[in-house]
Amino acid sequence: MKTYIKKIFTLSLCALSAVALITGSTFTSEAKANKAAAPKNIVVVLDPGHDTTHLGCHYENFEEGIANLYIAYYCKQELEKYNGVTVYMTRTGFDCAYGANPDSTADCLSGRVNFAKSVKADVLVSLHNDYDPDLDRSQNGAKVIVPNPNYRPDICVKGYTLGQSILNQLTTTGLEVNDWKLCPNGTGIVTRDSSGTYPDGSAKDYYALINKSKTLGFTAVIVEHAFCTNESDRLNHLSTPEQYQQLGIADATGIAQYYGLTLK
Ligand SMILES: [Zn+2]
Repeated sequence: MKTYIKKIFTLSLCALSAVALITGSTFTSEAKANKAAAPKNIVVVLDPGHDTTHLGCHYENFEEGIANLYIAYYCKQELEKYNGVTVYMTRTGFDCAYGANPDSTADCLSGRVNFAKSVKADVLVSLHNDYDPDLDRSQNGAKVIVPNPNYRPDICVKGYTLGQSILNQLTTTGLEVNDWKLCPNGTGIVTRDSSGTYPDGSAKDYYALINKSKTLGFTAVIVEHAFCTNESDRLNHLSTPEQYQQLGIADATGIAQYYGLTLK
């Protein structure tokens, strides 16, 4: 209970800062700043989750690694309809593109984050789908896992605002907002801490992709589109290329709106 309250509190702090950044007179949000001045080119790295070194969830006919790749391709295609954005993908096939040790699930994640750093990513957006390990079929819908407020609160604010923009678009496809039982808060924007620490002694983000990116100075978010273990999600959102396209377009629109991008 104590941890639960702390989690809500820290996320609220980040959320409050996000609201302050958007509405405050002293500060302007990144989106507003980009709309007002000639924006710099934005570099978005899309990360189709999983590969042959760390397979994603598998349920009925659903294979997460394949679904994520479809969604990423469609997202890239849509995002490239906008001005001022360069889009990369961390993988375009089924293998890890960075020579990871096949026995190490962490190696490819490091490779992906380092790749994002090498192309000067403004943001790394990791695309996933979820599976309830207890086969709890009531778990459904979309959520975005964002950086916690520790160590680099600015990165939390950016992740929170971007995550909300993506989630708003995903719900227009008919997906519900997931209230994740591991970190329930009802908003679909969640953080998760690990027992490790950042250099300042604060709790690290649980997910390596998020904590490694934060340490290197940029924002990573993890989009969990839908639950393959929920029949409605699987049949209505995770079964056909057209459905993957709908999710990819929603992600791209959320990213474009966050940065205030305009269509070509
Ligand atoms: Zn996954």
